[in-house]
Amino acid sequence: MSKIELRDLTKSYDGKVNILEKINLEVEEGEFYVLVGPSGCGKSTLLRVIAGLEKITDGTLKIDGKTANHMLPKDRSLSMVFQNYALYPHMTVKDNILFGLDVKKVPKEEQKRRLAEAAEMLGLTPYLKRKPRELSGGQRQRVALARSVCSQAPLCLMDEPLSNLDAKLRGQMRTEIRRLQKKLGLTVIYVTHDQVEAMTMGDRIMVLQGGKIQQTGTPLELYNEPANTFVAGFIGSPQMNLARARMTDMGLILNDSLLMPVSEEERGRLPQGGRWQIGVRAEQIELAAAGDPLAIPVRVVNTEMMGNETQVLFEVGKELFTARWTGQYLIEAGQDLTIRLSADSFHFFDEASGMLTRAALQIKGHAALTA
Ligand code: ADP
Ligand code: MG
Repeated sequence: MSKIELRDLTKSYDGKVNILEKINLEVEEGEFYVLVGPSGCGKSTLLRVIAGLEKITDGTLKIDGKTANHMLPKDRSLSMVFQNYALYPHMTVKDNILFGLDVKKVPKEEQKRRLAEAAEMLGLTPYLKRKPRELSGGQRQRVALARSVCSQAPLCLMDEPLSNLDAKLRGQMRTEIRRLQKKLGLTVIYVTHDQVEAMTMGDRIMVLQGGKIQQTGTPLELYNEPANTFVAGFIGSPQMNLARARMTDMGLILNDSLLMPVSEEERGRLPQGGRWQIGVRAEQIELAAAGDPLAIPVRVVNTEMMGNETQVLFEVGKELFTARWTGQYLIEAGQDLTIRLSADSFHFFDEASGMLTRAALQIKGHAALTA
């Protein structure tokens, strides 16, 4: 059992500023739950509150249905993995992995069995006699994970465990952690500032900014229906293109500069009002066919050739928009192109509050693809 509930949880360190404000959260048993947000938004604080390392200022924390605001950390049956691994440098890999089990009075035979299993699972068997300094970053992080596995705590809290690793290793470890979590049936609360980790690992995600929840949902809910412009800009790579938009007789005008023709049908599907902020994903911007009456001329500022795809940047007023096309487009900076934008693929946000008023009606690849 390892269900976590927060009700209106508020945390202040100094009694004046709230670092976390009225956080509501339910993490189900066996779920991989990701807390994501920019640096300083309160992610680590939230994790430490759940671990019992920080006092709760207001609100309730429940573990398995029981109020746990004052429960001691050691009674919460959880393990923690940190960014800096938190290994003991003078102890061997084996002793690091088994650390804490003596205190918990786990019999030696049982410790041996757990060690063998965890080391095998994480590919650490050849390194058990080494010291942490004789390991690579990835191996050290696996030792920290092995300790967490050996503790057999049903709840594992991870605070940016991969941010010290290089990109390739990060990719491998993402898969490894997810596999391990499923195999052991762990409940995991995973903190990261990296939206790619959040999208690829989370069953569900909470986006935090300034100590407040911006949105919670599955990765695709966040991608397809971002609750506000913050989530829209934070989730997804390249970043969603955002602009001011107003409706005129000739069409939509973006950032007071780019005129975008809108067909009669699309016009009928626009949300209420005449001014919005709009967001459009890079993959929704298309290259116009010759003679297309809805084509929009733009001048290319820069291109990024990825090999499998090409990202093309152009100006919309003072902002840069990115389009993303599968394949290798040889386009020079300064070249003129015509593109096509569809208002049906726009997310519309309230001009003042930035809250979503109409999600995109058309999302590429959204036709429920199944393998
Ligand atoms: P994140 O993990 O998202 O980067 P943190 O939870 O570490 O954010 O920090 C959130 C805010 O709380 C920051 O403004 C930070 O300066 C402040 N903070 C963190 N720990 C403490 C502390 N022990 N005392 C006072 N302020 C703190
Ligand atoms: Mg942190």
